[in-house]
Amino acid sequence: MVALRSGNCERCGKAFEKKWPYHPQRFCSGSCKTLHRRDTGVDDIEVRCAQCGETFDCNRYRLKKFCCEECYKRSRIRPRVTLRRIGGG
Ligand SMILES: [Zn+2]
Ligand SMILES: [Zn+2]
Repeated sequence: MVALRSGNCERCGKAFEKKWPYHPQRFCSGSCKTLHRRDTGVDDIEVRCAQCGETFDCNRYRLKKFCCEECYKRSRIRPRVTLRRIGGG
């Protein structure tokens, strides 16, 4: 016999009772579902680093501009540029 009304959470392994016997419920709670999604990287998209131009995976809800700490630091150090006035008056 397959117990339709109970299952084990795919995230924490905890046994839980399904609300709907035939509805595929894989997690005991919403937070477990969110954590699982984060771990498996389904919310990740490919982003291009604003500093080095390399592509990297980044969570679409927590977008980052740089692939690593190093690139972030580099972007903060700007080369000295003397602004020239165009035209002037
Ligand atoms: Zn769980
Ligand atoms: Zn980079």
